[in-house]
Amino acid sequence: MNTDILIVGSGCSGLYCALQLPRDMKITIITKSDVELSDSFLAQGGMCMLKEESDYDSYFQDTMRAGHYENDTTSVDIMIRSSREVVDYLINCGVDFQRDEQGLLAYTREGGHSKNRIVFHKDITGKEITSKLLDKVRELSNVSILEHTTLMDIACKDNACLGAVIRKADGEIEGVSAKFTVLATGGIGGLFKRSTNYRHLTGDAVAIAIKHGVELKNVNYIQIHPTTLYSPHDSDRSFLISESVRGEGAKLYDKNMNRFVNELLPRDQLTAAIYEQMRKDNTEYVWEDLRTIPIDELNSHFPNIVAHCSKMGYDVTKECIPVVPAQHYFMGGIKVDYNSKTSMDRLYAIGETACNGVHGKNRLASNSLLESLVFAGRAATDMQYNAPKVSGQADIAIDNIEAYRDEGALRESYRKLIEDELAAAGSENILQ
Ligand SMILES: Cc1cc2nc3c(=O)[nH]c(=O)nc-3n(C[C@H](O)[C@H](O)[C@H](O)COP(=O)(O)OP(=O)(O)OC[C@H]3O[C@@H](n4cnc5c(N)ncnc54)[C@H](O)[C@@H]3O)c2cc1C
Repeated sequence: MNTDILIVGSGCSGLYCALQLPRDMKITIITKSDVELSDSFLAQGGMCMLKEESDYDSYFQDTMRAGHYENDTTSVDIMIRSSREVVDYLINCGVDFQRDEQGLLAYTREGGHSKNRIVFHKDITGKEITSKLLDKVRELSNVSILEHTTLMDIACKDNACLGAVIRKADGEIEGVSAKFTVLATGGIGGLFKRSTNYRHLTGDAVAIAIKHGVELKNVNYIQIHPTTLYSPHDSDRSFLISESVRGEGAKLYDKNMNRFVNELLPRDQLTAAIYEQMRKDNTEYVWEDLRTIPIDELNSHFPNIVAHCSKMGYDVTKECIPVVPAQHYFMGGIKVDYNSKTSMDRLYAIGETACNGVHGKNRLASNSLLESLVFAGRAATDMQYNAPKVSGQADIAIDNIEAYRDEGALRESYRKLIEDELAAAGSENILQ
């Protein structure tokens, strides 16, 4: 197969990148599962934006404080400054953000934010954004989407990426020759026992980067979300109880139904406080009380959470729910520059699998959709600029096809590569 741009992953970053590329480029998006099964569809709380110039310093400082001041300040500045353009683009695509009585954008707030600056659509903001992007991509005749098609490896020579080895839906292994390859494979939660991520998100691109010596950054910076609905079955994907629920007034209680923490602390601090309380109480969860939120507000802002809890047997208008921390987000990843280029020529990484340093050590709530879109757009611009410099595309010869046919062994070897990398970075046993 031959394509100008190969995008691996159909989450918000992969789709947005495709939309920002010129229409005369042939673009192929491959995606490991159904096209709708990405974490982007799961995002609940919303997406940050710079709502007015006077909020710049406060937004910048909140992002830095949450990130323990280890953030790349240029990346943070780029993200904040580009947010209005991204929101306008999404509105043009038909994304229906919540409006106030005057018809202006409404803003909510989450932990770590000192002001309301998050645009949202009920508690299914990610689905609203990503489904509209997908509709737009489907209108493009220069873009094909191959579902149930998995990136097994990249093909490279002299530190340049020539394309990829993929496994198609029918099980066939095929080489794809591409001018540029974009890794948009999302997070690594599928490697953890408890995670809010889809189970098929196993950090494949990160493992492939390790295999080929592509530089990584901050791989031990892994965010644990403080509040997911407790389930005794830890192989289930953990259901997230969004931070905005706490932003709107939900409280946390210990086993004696006493408050034990400021619910609006940044995620890492709140997670640590919850683990400490669980240890003291010798429990597997703490309680979250949503009854502090008016019922109308609960039903209009958080219908998905209310419905899911009800399905699991909890009436949030009448009782508390058990919540527990779970792996949620990967701040580290494949190291990229401000245009999302990796240390390998013709290879880009965007979205959660990439690390441009924007989040530092800990991500501020609702910064990741924005970061994914902003830096996906920059990758598209950079590839467009660099395309004339790439001359000739060779067919991809697959030397050891049998190794790719044994998917189980390959997966295990990739898992081991990540595990070793995390251990080397000081996160031993983190996958357990
Ligand atoms: C429950 C939940 C709630 C969240 N809420 C928010 C929020 O309110 N605000 C916010 O800003 N962020 C939120 N996030 C984080 C945010 O949703 C993600 O960081 C973001 O959507 C990541 O987008 P992405 O494009 O990088 O990856 P994803 O959307 O995860 O997509 C990854 C894609 O890569 C594909 N893929 C993976 N491996 C391969 C492979 N080997 N071959 C082919 N394809 C592959 C997958 O199938 C998928 O299509 C939330 C995350 C979760 C899990």
